[in-house]
Amino acid sequence: MARIGFIGLGNMGTPMARNLLRSGHALTVFDLAAERVGRLVAEGAVGAKTPRETIAGAHAVITMLPTGREVRSVYAGAGGLIEAAPPGLLLIDCSTIDVATAREMAQAAAAAGASMLDAPVSGGVASAEAATLTFMVGGEAAAVERAQPILEAMGRRIIHAGPSGSGQAAKICNNLILGISMIAVAEAFVLGEKLGLSHQALFDVASTSSGQCWSLTSYCPVPGPVPSSPANRGYAPGFTAAMMLKDLELARDAASEAGAAAELGTHAAALYRRFAEGGGAQMDFSAIITMLRGG
Ligand code: NAD
Repeated sequence: MARIGFIGLGNMGTPMARNLLRSGHALTVFDLAAERVGRLVAEGAVGAKTPRETIAGAHAVITMLPTGREVRSVYAGAGGLIEAAPPGLLLIDCSTIDVATAREMAQAAAAAGASMLDAPVSGGVASAEAATLTFMVGGEAAAVERAQPILEAMGRRIIHAGPSGSGQAAKICNNLILGISMIAVAEAFVLGEKLGLSHQALFDVASTSSGQCWSLTSYCPVPGPVPSSPANRGYAPGFTAAMMLKDLELARDAASEAGAAAELGTHAAALYRRFAEGGGAQMDFSAIITMLRGG
């Protein structure tokens, strides 16, 4: 078992860190929010006062931060991880960020003698809790092999997507599908309501027909058909609309830079921006149905 540093104990980071503890790894944890550090310390982790303190004695450091801005600051800012990384340290960033920042951080880490992987996840909070996340990993094969036993404590599937940045590329493309498909499912339920169709009837048909998708069967945006979906708890996140907006804007920007068409993705980003700016930013992203309903 390894000593691991863990930085970023939010909706996803806390259950991921907890699963590392449960599988017998020793953990040193840091978050800007002291109470989140305290919660993990009560469960057996060592608390750190700075990101750098998580490096002491660690084989690997994992980060689970909101955006590329925080990742850049924790890795390459003043007092950042890369400057202090001993040769051979394995750095694993599980946040969803832009490909360019992921590649830049990995290059800076390599120049300092450390190995860095981008390893964003798919699955949401329920999968983080159940240790069934999918990791999509970008970086060198040898580093992926070293990361394997650590990632296995938090997830079920580990896919080596290619060189540095490929994990983020895969994640951005996946969430482009997710953002659009959630709007499609929400629009269908709103139309069904207006046509007098019950939520359960539409769910029973679409979940076993060609409308079947994860946004419907695992994360249904109306209460009832899928008891674990955020719709059943007032749209408490889960995955916030602000995060979905971030990911769709990453996809939009990546598509524009790469010269790829992403017309629905661009429109989906605009809808999430309207929802977030109208007060929905911290609600679960599936709550976009309330805006589409006009309520
Ligand atoms: P969150 O906002 O709940 O957690 C982020 C944590 O990072 C917070 O505890 C915050 O205090 C901490 N933090 C921010 N800046 C920091 C800094 N400079 N140093 C240390 N800690 C800092 O976010 P989340 O929902 O856990 O998501 C984290 C990442 O995972 C995001 O990139 C998101 O897109 C991705 N993701 C989330 C989900 C989901 O369902 N929530 C699913 C897949 C991927």
